[in-house]
Amino acid sequence: MQRAYNFNAGPSALPLEVLNRAQAELVNYKGTGMSVMELSHRSKEYDQVHQQAISDLRTLLRIPDDYQVLFLQGGASLQFSMIPMNFLTPGKTADYILTGSWSQKALEEANKFGETNVIASSKDEKFSYIPEVNGDNHSTNSAYVHITSNNTIYGTQWEKYPTYTDVPLIADMSSDILCRETNVEQFGMIYAGAQKNLGPSGVTVAIIKDSLLKQSNSNLPTMLDYHTHVKSNSLYNTPPTFSIYMLSLVLDWVKEQGGVSAIEARNKEKAALLYHTIDESEGFYKAHAKDGSRSIMNVSYTLPSDELTKKFLAQAKEKGFVGLNGHRSIGGCRASIYNAVPYESVEALASFMKAFKSEN
Ligand SMILES: *Cc1c(COP(=O)(O)O)cnc(C)c1O
Repeated sequence: MQRAYNFNAGPSALPLEVLNRAQAELVNYKGTGMSVMELSHRSKEYDQVHQQAISDLRTLLRIPDDYQVLFLQGGASLQFSMIPMNFLTPGKTADYILTGSWSQKALEEANKFGETNVIASSKDEKFSYIPEVNGDNHSTNSAYVHITSNNTIYGTQWEKYPTYTDVPLIADMSSDILCRETNVEQFGMIYAGAQKNLGPSGVTVAIIKDSLLKQSNSNLPTMLDYHTHVKSNSLYNTPPTFSIYMLSLVLDWVKEQGGVSAIEARNKEKAALLYHTIDESEGFYKAHAKDGSRSIMNVSYTLPSDELTKKFLAQAKEKGFVGLNGHRSIGGCRASIYNAVPYESVEALASFMKAFKSEN
Protein backbone atom coordinates (compact mmCIF):
# COMPACT_ATOMS: atom_id res chain seq x y z
CA MET A 1 0.00 0.00 0.00
CA GLN A 2 1.06 3.53 -0.85
CA ARG A 3 1.77 5.77 2.17
CA ALA A 4 0.14 9.22 2.00
CA TYR A 5 2.08 12.45 1.84
CA ASN A 6 0.93 13.28 5.36
CA PHE A 7 1.14 16.94 6.39
CA ASN A 8 -1.41 16.69 9.19
CA ALA A 9 -1.01 19.19 12.04
CA GLY A 10 -1.69 16.66 14.79
CA PRO A 11 -2.13 13.79 15.20
CA SER A 12 0.45 13.62 12.48
CA ALA A 13 2.85 11.39 10.58
CA LEU A 14 4.75 8.71 12.46
CA PRO A 15 7.94 7.14 11.11
CA LEU A 16 7.17 4.12 8.94
CA GLU A 17 9.90 2.17 10.76
CA VAL A 18 8.09 2.77 14.05
CA LEU A 19 4.74 1.60 12.67
CA ASN A 20 6.34 -1.52 11.19
CA ARG A 21 8.02 -2.37 14.46
CA ALA A 22 4.80 -1.84 16.42
CA GLN A 23 3.04 -4.10 13.96
CA ALA A 24 5.67 -6.81 14.27
CA GLU A 25 5.46 -6.68 18.07
CA LEU A 26 1.72 -6.18 18.29
CA VAL A 27 0.34 -9.59 19.19
CA ASN A 28 3.32 -11.04 21.01
CA TYR A 29 5.49 -8.47 22.72
CA LYS A 30 8.94 -9.92 23.47
CA GLY A 31 7.65 -13.43 24.00
CA THR A 32 4.98 -12.47 26.56
CA GLY A 33 2.24 -13.91 24.36
CA MET A 34 0.40 -10.61 24.51
CA SER A 35 0.38 -7.08 23.24
CA VAL A 36 1.87 -4.19 25.22
CA MET A 37 -1.77 -3.04 25.49
CA GLU A 38 -2.58 -6.22 27.41
CA LEU A 39 0.34 -6.13 29.86
CA SER A 40 -0.19 -5.06 33.44
CA HIS A 41 1.18 -1.59 34.02
CA ARG A 42 2.88 -3.12 37.08
CA SER A 43 4.61 -5.88 35.09
CA LYS A 44 8.36 -5.95 34.63
CA GLU A 45 7.94 -5.91 30.84
CA TYR A 46 5.90 -2.72 30.92
CA ASP A 47 8.16 -1.19 33.53
CA GLN A 48 11.06 -1.63 31.14
CA VAL A 49 9.21 0.23 28.38
CA HIS A 50 8.34 3.04 30.81
CA GLN A 51 11.87 3.42 32.15
CA GLN A 52 13.43 3.24 28.71
CA ALA A 53 11.16 6.02 27.44
CA ILE A 54 12.13 8.24 30.37
CA SER A 55 15.84 7.54 30.06
CA ASP A 56 15.87 8.02 26.27
CA LEU A 57 14.11 11.33 26.62
CA ARG A 58 16.65 12.35 29.27
CA THR A 59 19.52 11.42 26.98
CA LEU A 60 18.13 12.96 23.80
CA LEU A 61 17.23 16.28 25.41
CA ARG A 62 20.16 16.22 27.85
CA ILE A 63 17.77 16.76 30.75
CA PRO A 64 19.71 17.56 33.95
CA ASP A 65 19.19 15.40 37.06
CA ASP A 66 17.31 18.08 38.93
CA TYR A 67 14.39 17.84 36.50
CA GLN A 68 11.55 15.34 36.70
CA VAL A 69 10.17 13.67 33.57
CA LEU A 70 6.46 12.91 33.77
CA PHE A 71 3.95 11.14 31.53
CA LEU A 72 0.52 12.68 32.03
CA GLN A 73 -2.90 12.51 30.41
CA GLY A 74 -5.37 15.21 29.40
CA GLY A 75 -3.20 16.60 26.60
CA ALA A 76 -1.28 19.85 26.57
CA SER A 77 -4.67 21.45 27.22
CA LEU A 78 -4.84 20.08 30.76
CA GLN A 79 -1.39 21.56 31.39
CA PHE A 80 -2.90 24.98 30.64
CA SER A 81 -4.88 24.45 33.89
CA MET A 82 -2.42 22.40 35.93
CA ILE A 83 0.37 24.95 35.56
CA PRO A 84 -1.48 27.86 37.22
CA MET A 85 -3.14 25.46 39.69
CA ASN A 86 0.26 24.24 40.86
CA PHE A 87 2.51 27.25 40.36
CA LEU A 88 0.41 30.40 40.53
CA THR A 89 0.75 30.77 44.28
CA PRO A 90 -1.09 33.41 46.35
CA GLY A 91 0.21 36.96 45.91
CA LYS A 92 1.99 36.13 42.66
CA THR A 93 1.31 37.01 39.03
CA ALA A 94 1.58 34.63 36.11
CA ASP A 95 3.15 36.23 33.03
CA TYR A 96 2.08 35.16 29.56
CA ILE A 97 3.51 35.96 26.14
CA LEU A 98 0.81 35.74 23.51
CA THR A 99 1.95 34.40 20.16
CA GLY A 100 -1.13 32.52 18.99
CA SER A 101 -4.30 30.63 19.84
CA TRP A 102 -2.62 28.10 22.10
CA SER A 103 -0.95 30.69 24.30
CA GLN A 104 -4.26 32.52 24.50
CA LYS A 105 -5.96 29.36 25.69
CA ALA A 106 -3.23 28.86 28.27
CA LEU A 107 -3.77 32.42 29.51
CA GLU A 108 -7.56 32.00 29.72
CA GLU A 109 -7.10 29.00 32.02
CA ALA A 110 -4.65 30.88 34.25
CA ASN A 111 -7.17 33.73 34.54
CA LYS A 112 -9.44 31.30 36.38
CA PHE A 113 -6.88 30.74 39.11
CA GLY A 114 -5.32 34.11 39.84
CA GLU A 115 -3.60 37.25 38.68
CA THR A 116 -2.11 37.22 35.18
CA ASN A 117 -0.22 39.69 33.05
CA VAL A 118 0.37 39.72 29.31
CA ILE A 119 3.96 40.91 29.03
CA ALA A 120 4.20 40.73 25.23
CA SER A 121 1.93 39.89 22.34
CA SER A 122 1.96 39.71 18.54
CA LYS A 123 -1.82 39.80 18.25
CA ASP A 124 -1.63 43.27 16.64
CA GLU A 125 -0.29 41.67 13.47
CA LYS A 126 -2.24 38.43 13.37
CA PHE A 127 0.42 36.57 15.30
CA SER A 128 2.77 36.72 12.34
CA TYR A 129 5.90 37.26 14.41
CA ILE A 130 7.56 36.49 17.74
CA PRO A 131 7.87 39.60 19.91
CA GLU A 132 11.19 40.86 21.22
CA VAL A 133 11.48 39.92 24.89
CA ASN A 134 14.41 39.93 27.25
CA GLY A 135 14.93 38.42 30.67
CA ASP A 136 14.00 41.59 32.56
CA ASN A 137 10.55 41.60 31.05
CA HIS A 138 8.31 40.13 33.78
CA SER A 139 6.06 41.22 36.65
CA THR A 140 7.83 42.10 39.89
CA ASN A 141 6.12 39.22 41.71
CA SER A 142 6.12 36.84 38.77
CA ALA A 143 5.33 33.18 39.48
CA TYR A 144 6.50 32.17 36.00
CA VAL A 145 6.65 33.32 32.40
CA HIS A 146 4.72 31.16 29.93
CA ILE A 147 5.53 30.92 26.22
CA THR A 148 4.50 28.74 23.28
CA SER A 149 7.74 27.75 21.59
CA ASN A 150 6.12 26.98 18.24
CA ASN A 151 2.80 28.33 17.07
CA THR A 152 1.26 25.42 15.26
CA ILE A 153 -1.50 27.44 13.60
CA TYR A 154 0.36 30.63 12.62
CA GLY A 155 3.63 28.94 11.68
CA THR A 156 5.89 31.00 13.89
CA GLN A 157 8.60 29.74 16.23
CA TRP A 158 10.93 31.27 18.78
CA GLU A 159 14.39 31.33 17.28
CA LYS A 160 16.07 32.36 20.51
CA TYR A 161 14.35 32.07 23.87
CA PRO A 162 14.49 34.91 26.38
CA THR A 163 16.89 34.10 29.22
CA TYR A 164 15.29 34.50 32.61
CA THR A 165 17.50 34.18 35.65
CA ASP A 166 15.11 34.90 38.52
CA VAL A 167 11.76 33.65 37.14
CA PRO A 168 10.97 30.15 35.82
CA LEU A 169 10.29 30.05 32.10
CA ILE A 170 7.58 27.55 31.13
CA ALA A 171 7.22 26.47 27.52
CA ASP A 172 4.48 24.67 25.66
CA MET A 173 6.62 22.72 23.16
CA SER A 174 3.78 20.54 21.88
CA SER A 175 4.58 21.14 18.24
CA ASP A 176 8.37 21.42 18.29
CA ILE A 177 9.84 19.34 21.11
CA LEU A 178 12.84 17.35 19.82
CA CYS A 179 12.88 19.29 16.54
CA ARG A 180 16.21 20.95 17.42
CA GLU A 181 18.80 21.15 20.15
CA THR A 182 17.31 22.74 23.25
CA ASN A 183 18.96 23.91 26.43
CA VAL A 184 16.55 22.51 29.03
CA GLU A 185 18.34 24.45 31.77
CA GLN A 186 16.82 27.66 30.43
CA PHE A 187 13.41 26.40 31.52
CA GLY A 188 11.55 25.75 34.74
CA MET A 189 9.22 23.49 32.82
CA ILE A 190 8.66 22.15 29.32
CA TYR A 191 5.54 20.28 28.31
CA ALA A 192 4.23 18.72 25.11
CA GLY A 193 1.30 16.64 23.95
CA ALA A 194 2.87 13.69 22.14
CA GLN A 195 0.83 13.68 18.96
CA LYS A 196 3.02 16.02 16.90
CA ASN A 197 6.67 15.12 17.37
CA LEU A 198 6.70 12.31 19.93
CA GLY A 199 4.15 9.66 19.05
CA PRO A 200 0.41 9.10 19.09
CA SER A 201 -2.03 11.12 21.20
CA GLY A 202 -2.84 10.02 24.74
CA VAL A 203 0.32 10.96 26.56
CA THR A 204 1.71 14.36 27.50
CA VAL A 205 5.31 14.82 28.51
CA ALA A 206 6.15 17.25 31.32
CA ILE A 207 9.72 18.09 32.29
CA ILE A 208 9.81 20.08 35.54
CA LYS A 209 12.67 21.47 37.57
CA ASP A 210 12.80 20.42 41.24
CA SER A 211 13.16 24.01 42.44
CA LEU A 212 9.88 24.92 40.71
CA LEU A 213 8.11 21.86 42.13
CA LYS A 214 9.12 23.01 45.60
CA GLN A 215 7.21 26.25 45.15
CA SER A 216 3.87 24.69 44.27
CA ASN A 217 0.46 25.07 45.88
CA SER A 218 -0.69 22.32 48.22
CA ASN A 219 -4.05 20.61 48.76
CA LEU A 220 -4.74 20.15 45.09
CA PRO A 221 -6.90 17.33 43.71
CA THR A 222 -4.63 14.28 43.69
CA MET A 223 -4.49 13.75 39.93
CA LEU A 224 -3.90 17.45 39.26
CA ASP A 225 -0.97 17.73 41.65
CA TYR A 226 2.41 17.23 39.96
CA HIS A 227 3.81 15.77 43.19
CA THR A 228 1.47 12.78 42.86
CA HIS A 229 3.05 11.88 39.54
CA VAL A 230 6.59 12.64 40.67
CA LYS A 231 6.27 10.41 43.73
CA SER A 232 4.84 7.51 41.73
CA ASN A 233 7.05 7.87 38.64
CA SER A 234 3.93 8.55 36.55
CA LEU A 235 2.41 5.26 37.72
CA TYR A 236 -0.06 6.56 40.31
CA ASN A 237 -2.92 5.31 38.17
CA THR A 238 -2.91 3.38 34.91
CA PRO A 239 -0.81 5.36 32.45
CA PRO A 240 -1.57 5.29 28.70
CA THR A 241 0.72 2.30 28.29
CA PHE A 242 0.43 1.87 24.54
CA SER A 243 1.02 5.57 23.84
CA ILE A 244 4.12 5.47 26.06
CA TYR A 245 5.31 2.35 24.23
CA MET A 246 4.87 4.14 20.89
CA LEU A 247 6.70 7.14 22.31
CA SER A 248 9.58 4.85 23.28
CA LEU A 249 9.73 3.52 19.71
CA VAL A 250 9.79 7.07 18.33
CA LEU A 251 12.66 7.97 20.68
CA ASP A 252 14.52 4.87 19.53
CA TRP A 253 14.00 6.01 15.95
CA VAL A 254 15.35 9.49 16.78
CA LYS A 255 18.48 7.85 18.20
CA GLU A 256 18.86 5.76 15.04
CA GLN A 257 18.59 8.91 12.93
CA GLY A 258 21.63 10.29 14.74
CA GLY A 259 19.91 12.08 17.60
CA VAL A 260 18.44 15.55 17.88
CA SER A 261 21.22 17.35 16.00
CA ALA A 262 20.78 15.11 12.94
CA ILE A 263 17.00 15.55 13.12
CA GLU A 264 17.49 19.31 13.40
CA ALA A 265 19.66 19.43 10.28
CA ARG A 266 17.06 17.48 8.31
CA ASN A 267 14.21 19.62 9.61
CA LYS A 268 16.03 22.75 8.52
CA GLU A 269 16.54 21.33 5.03
CA LYS A 270 12.84 20.46 4.76
CA ALA A 271 11.75 23.91 5.95
CA ALA A 272 14.28 25.69 3.72
CA LEU A 273 12.96 23.85 0.67
CA LEU A 274 9.38 24.97 1.33
CA TYR A 275 10.22 28.57 2.24
CA HIS A 276 12.45 28.76 -0.80
CA THR A 277 9.56 27.59 -2.97
CA ILE A 278 7.35 30.26 -1.39
CA ASP A 279 9.92 33.05 -1.68
CA GLU A 280 10.74 32.21 -5.29
CA SER A 281 7.09 32.28 -6.34
CA GLU A 282 7.04 36.04 -7.05
CA GLY A 283 4.33 36.61 -4.48
CA PHE A 284 2.08 33.77 -5.64
CA TYR A 285 2.60 32.04 -2.31
CA LYS A 286 3.06 34.13 0.82
CA ALA A 287 4.24 32.82 4.19
CA HIS A 288 2.13 33.98 7.12
CA ALA A 289 5.18 34.26 9.38
CA LYS A 290 7.57 37.17 9.07
CA ASP A 291 11.26 36.59 8.45
CA GLY A 292 13.08 35.71 11.64
CA SER A 293 9.96 34.08 13.12
CA ARG A 294 9.39 31.31 10.61
CA SER A 295 8.66 27.89 12.02
CA ILE A 296 10.59 24.86 10.82
CA MET A 297 7.64 22.67 11.87
CA ASN A 298 4.52 24.36 10.46
CA VAL A 299 4.69 26.31 7.22
CA SER A 300 1.51 28.43 6.96
CA TYR A 301 1.03 30.20 3.65
CA THR A 302 -1.59 31.79 1.43
CA LEU A 303 -2.36 31.94 -2.30
CA PRO A 304 -3.57 35.04 -4.20
CA SER A 305 -7.31 34.25 -3.79
CA ASP A 306 -9.78 31.97 -2.05
CA GLU A 307 -10.61 30.43 -5.40
CA LEU A 308 -7.00 29.50 -6.09
CA THR A 309 -6.65 28.18 -2.55
CA LYS A 310 -9.63 25.88 -3.08
CA LYS A 311 -8.30 24.74 -6.42
CA PHE A 312 -4.84 24.15 -4.92
CA LEU A 313 -6.24 22.08 -2.06
CA ALA A 314 -8.49 20.06 -4.37
CA GLN A 315 -5.64 19.21 -6.74
CA ALA A 316 -3.30 18.49 -3.85
CA LYS A 317 -5.82 16.02 -2.47
CA GLU A 318 -6.04 14.23 -5.82
CA LYS A 319 -2.26 13.88 -5.86
CA GLY A 320 -2.21 12.24 -2.43
CA PHE A 321 -1.28 15.18 -0.22
CA VAL A 322 -3.11 15.14 3.09
CA GLY A 323 -3.62 17.82 5.74
CA LEU A 324 -2.69 20.95 3.77
CA ASN A 325 -5.73 23.00 4.76
CA GLY A 326 -4.83 25.94 6.94
CA HIS A 327 -6.41 26.05 10.40
CA ARG A 328 -10.01 27.32 10.25
CA SER A 329 -9.00 30.42 12.24
CA ILE A 330 -6.63 31.80 9.55
CA GLY A 331 -7.50 29.87 6.39
CA GLY A 332 -4.98 29.43 3.57
CA CYS A 333 -2.68 26.43 3.61
CA ARG A 334 -0.36 24.84 6.10
CA ALA A 335 2.20 22.09 5.72
CA SER A 336 3.17 20.51 9.02
CA ILE A 337 6.60 19.02 8.55
CA TYR A 338 7.30 17.39 11.88
CA ASN A 339 10.29 15.15 12.57
CA ALA A 340 8.66 12.08 11.04
CA VAL A 341 7.69 13.71 7.75
CA PRO A 342 10.20 12.38 5.19
CA TYR A 343 12.22 14.78 3.04
CA GLU A 344 10.68 13.07 0.00
CA SER A 345 7.19 14.20 1.01
CA VAL A 346 8.40 17.78 1.24
CA GLU A 347 10.16 17.50 -2.13
CA ALA A 348 6.96 16.19 -3.69
CA LEU A 349 5.01 19.10 -2.21
CA ALA A 350 7.55 21.68 -3.40
CA SER A 351 7.37 20.28 -6.96
CA PHE A 352 3.61 20.32 -6.87
CA MET A 353 3.58 23.93 -5.63
CA LYS A 354 5.91 24.99 -8.43
CA ALA A 355 3.83 23.22 -11.07
CA PHE A 356 0.58 24.66 -9.70
CA LYS A 357 2.04 28.15 -9.75
CA SER A 358 3.14 27.97 -13.37
CA GLU A 359 -0.23 26.53 -14.46
CA ASN A 360 -2.12 29.27 -12.66
C1 LIG B 1 -1.72 20.77 19.54
C2 LIG B 1 -1.31 21.77 20.53
C3 LIG B 1 -1.92 21.87 21.79
C4 LIG B 1 -3.10 21.03 22.20
O1 LIG B 1 -2.71 19.79 22.56
P1 LIG B 1 -3.73 18.71 23.15
O2 LIG B 1 -2.81 17.59 23.49
O3 LIG B 1 -4.72 18.40 22.08
O4 LIG B 1 -4.39 19.31 24.34
C5 LIG B 1 -1.42 22.79 22.67
N1 LIG B 1 -0.39 23.60 22.35
C6 LIG B 1 0.21 23.54 21.15
C7 LIG B 1 1.35 24.45 20.84
C8 LIG B 1 -0.23 22.63 20.20
O5 LIG B 1 0.35 22.58 18.99
